[in-house]
Amino acid sequence: MENEEKKKETGALREKLDARGAHFTRQRAAVYDYLRQVDHHPTADEIYLAVKSGLPKISLATVYKNLEALVDCGAASKLTYGDAAARYDIRTDHHFHSRCRICGKIADVEPVRSDALLGLIDLQAGFSIENWRIEVIGICLKCKEIRRD
Ligand SMILES: [Zn+2]
Ligand SMILES: [Zn+2]
Repeated sequence: MENEEKKKETGALREKLDARGAHFTRQRAAVYDYLRQVDHHPTADEIYLAVKSGLPKISLATVYKNLEALVDCGAASKLTYGDAAARYDIRTDHHFHSRCRICGKIADVEPVRSDALLGLIDLQAGFSIENWRIEVIGICLKCKEIRRD
């Protein structure tokens, strides 16, 4: 059952890459698989360390290239944070994030009536929205518990 699902996912990834004229490679598939397994929105460094165990020849530069290819074909999305390292998300639908300012963990926040939220902001005249995101910043439960000890 699990294998069937994996085959389907791999097929879908191959199609997306094909559509952008990008190649499906074992390394790309490994990066994609890792992103599918985690929900903490890892950085390229974290992904590199994780996939290296199975693919010892992979380099950090290749991981970056593979991530760009995945983002470019719509199989993943990239979250940028000013000067901090970008993070990668297997989800490409419109959703939001919470970020712990201590451990940096990024978690998904499901939008509830996000159209209503947009109605609450006062935009400059003539500004047209192309995309938007909401980030909630604070301290996660785990970090709170560590502080209490
Ligand atoms: Zn935390
Ligand atoms: Zn996300």
